[in-house]
Amino acid sequence: ANSVDEECDYLFKAVLIGDSAVGKSNLLSRFAKDEFYLDSKPTIGVEFAYRNIRVGDKLIKSQIWDTAGQERFRAITSSYYRGALGALLVYDITRRSTFENLRKWLKELREFGSPEMVIVLVGNKSDLSQSREVKLEDGQSLAQLEELSFMETSAKENLNVEEAFLQMITRIYELNC
Ligand code: GDP
Ligand code: MG
Repeated sequence: ANSVDEECDYLFKAVLIGDSAVGKSNLLSRFAKDEFYLDSKPTIGVEFAYRNIRVGDKLIKSQIWDTAGQERFRAITSSYYRGALGALLVYDITRRSTFENLRKWLKELREFGSPEMVIVLVGNKSDLSQSREVKLEDGQSLAQLEELSFMETSAKENLNVEEAFLQMITRIYELNC
């Protein structure tokens, strides 16, 4: 059966944001297709992917947008955020700068995104704990301060990826349906 043809009750748009090479495209390919790419190129990023999720008796189709590399040039435009009900805001636990830049991303989200957008903060590459530059507690305190959900993930080892997306999607459902 082709899940795309299934009758869906709701269609949500959500976006992936965060610095280049934090693992956004791999989180999405893991969630949408259960695939991971060891040396993914920014240019191979798809524009978006779909996945259907069942919440109770409702079928939710989420359309998740990926940046296709524009974030390297700070060229994400307002159309990327338009209509988005959720965002996964991703940093790389092995690169401190990607955590410091979250401030900039949050500012942009608040400028272009809708005020009631569900934001899940994601510290990716938890499999590389030997090169960790951002403590788990740092992610937790920022999330608490900014009132975001938070999770550390590994797209590579498929840890918490499903949970991060599902948390965002079910929260969107609770707030909007
Ligand atoms: P994007 O620019 O944010 O879309 O990042 P990509 O998904 O293209 O990933 C950038 C690089 O990080 C690639 O070489 C990936 O293989 C690698 N990567 C992504 N997620 C993980 C992860 O969870 N663990 C490890 N070890 N590497 C990852
Ligand atoms: Mg990418």
